[in-house]
Amino acid sequence: MKEKTTDESFEYAVERFADLQLLRYRVPGFEDLSLRQKTLIYYLSQAAVEGRDILYDQNGKYNLQIRRLLEAVYVNWRGDRATEEFQAFEVYLKRVWFSNGIYHHYACDKLAPGFSEAFLRAAVESLDAGLLPLEQDETAEDMCAKLFPVVFDPSVMPKRVNQADGEDLVVTSAANYYDGVTQKEAEAFYAEQKAHGGDEPVMYGMNSRLAKVDGLLKEEVWKAGGMYGSAIEKIVGWLEKAEGVAENDIQRKTIRLLVEFYRTGDLKVFDEYSIEWLKDTESKVDFVNGFIESYGDPLGLKASWESIVNFKDEAATLRTETISAHAQWFEDHSPISPCFKKEKVKGVSAKVIVAAILGGDLYPSTAIGINLPNSNWIRSAHGSKSVTIGNLIDAYNKAARGNGFRDEFVYSAVEKSLLDKYADLTDSLHTDLHECLGHGSGKLLPGVDPDALKAYGSTIEEARADLFGLYYLPDSKLVELGLTPDEEAYKAEYYSYMMNGLMTQLVRIEPGRNVEEAHMRNRQLIARWTLEHGADSKAVEMVKRDGKTYVKVNDYSRLRQLFGTLLSEIQRIKSEGDYESARLLVEKYGVKVDSKLHEEVLARYRSLQLAPYKGFVNPVYVAVTDKEGNIADVKVDYTEGYAEQMLRYSREYSNL
Ligand code: ZN
Repeated sequence: MKEKTTDESFEYAVERFADLQLLRYRVPGFEDLSLRQKTLIYYLSQAAVEGRDILYDQNGKYNLQIRRLLEAVYVNWRGDRATEEFQAFEVYLKRVWFSNGIYHHYACDKLAPGFSEAFLRAAVESLDAGLLPLEQDETAEDMCAKLFPVVFDPSVMPKRVNQADGEDLVVTSAANYYDGVTQKEAEAFYAEQKAHGGDEPVMYGMNSRLAKVDGLLKEEVWKAGGMYGSAIEKIVGWLEKAEGVAENDIQRKTIRLLVEFYRTGDLKVFDEYSIEWLKDTESKVDFVNGFIESYGDPLGLKASWESIVNFKDEAATLRTETISAHAQWFEDHSPISPCFKKEKVKGVSAKVIVAAILGGDLYPSTAIGINLPNSNWIRSAHGSKSVTIGNLIDAYNKAARGNGFRDEFVYSAVEKSLLDKYADLTDSLHTDLHECLGHGSGKLLPGVDPDALKAYGSTIEEARADLFGLYYLPDSKLVELGLTPDEEAYKAEYYSYMMNGLMTQLVRIEPGRNVEEAHMRNRQLIARWTLEHGADSKAVEMVKRDGKTYVKVNDYSRLRQLFGTLLSEIQRIKSEGDYESARLLVEKYGVKVDSKLHEEVLARYRSLQLAPYKGFVNPVYVAVTDKEGNIADVKVDYTEGYAEQMLRYSREYSNL
């Protein structure tokens, strides 16, 4: 069972501004690592922040100078910090830090400053030229003339990544992946490279900027001695130290190949590195450091720099391994017809990790699950590593506790205390049952086309996996295996599943729209179907109180029976490829939105004023050295603030 933190005094929420909330995450288990593992994490965590400036530059060619200008004003400001204009300036700088540049990290639009051009100009003029981030032979006036339109004029370089059909996406995107190149030219350039790719093509263009120099297209490669060389050399320096304390030969070789890639920029070496990284499954510590995801390039070729260092959460991984080890028992006891059961079933065990530090495009905004590498041929020939990041999910859950959501939507104190006590655990457990067993259970009858359910296929498949998990949550087998603490715990997931499926997931849907996404359709299908079929016994009800709608569960064990009945029917539909039944079920229960209820839910949600986007402040790793200068211990500190951390990173890791 996943260990519960005993230190309830830990402050997860750091600060809130604009549409953002900053959180802190704990790194449980770090103290129990060996000195060698702690040292390895220390070196890799340094490598994880040395590339920060790379991402700023990738996100826009003026980002670094703008950030440095804003920081110079912020640090050296002698005036009143309480004025509305200075406060707006501070919020803008904090947003720039969050986005690693002047474009919204998610929406890609240019951030609108809440202060005037005159304010910034006066601030610049009040500073000594020596404090300003001037380029060679540049005056303060030149700098303002160059940067101010980029910051203040909404029509200048308005979008980081433009996806509008019909426009030149390369020319109209402000991301710094192409210079003086049109979309046509870039596409032709890479089509030519891909034509010679063979069966095992490298990720063409992934680690370079494409520029037109004297009328010719040329790749400026990101490597030691090349573009971003000064940051990459710093990264390599830490990786070499890490190689010296690697846990085993495979990890050592993995790090060596990554260093070689950073030195040469050779994409073949990157593929070799990725394959070796996939083989490294025994090490406790693992990491990603490099040019990985290509969402920032409108053509999807160029990869932004990111890093995460992590170690395996043994206790949580044990949970998924326990579930997988008993996969056959679950299959044999499931409520579906015996003719649809698998004779031999194999569970999947997913690895749960603890993030130790986040960098580049994973900081401050981050993913909670990672599945790499991205190369298609490597994925099919060598597989991929899939992980969920347990301590970040935990931080989201803990921070959400006091945000008012449950007070607004949960029926009474009884359900609230159930959720407070069990929901973090049962939510993870339901996900594990869904992933490790649900998708892998059952079989198609001979001759049934796996795509027979067509557009309804993924909703039905998700419903099958969800129901498998829901059906088993109350089972005494879970208590016996130590996965749930008692026979009450499942009620937390039952309540929150029904509340979400019947009501609260509607907050993610725009007014007037229906449910479209497969997971959301599945949840509404299950919730509405059980509401209707449990109506005679009032297992679940929608009740009104003071004009507000609530979900009320009266009979949890009846609810389990209903989940079992629906699972059996959904499995039959899947096994027989019964398209018509799938269509009727999904269309009747999964798609349509009750517009009055939708309106009510949206209004209640808005009144909570929750931040739509969240990100994290990193912990600080402090190396304690002995008299000879060797690392004798590594301590984790959680006290650094958001602005404090960003300013320190800008001072200590200003590599470009
Ligand atoms: Zn699924």
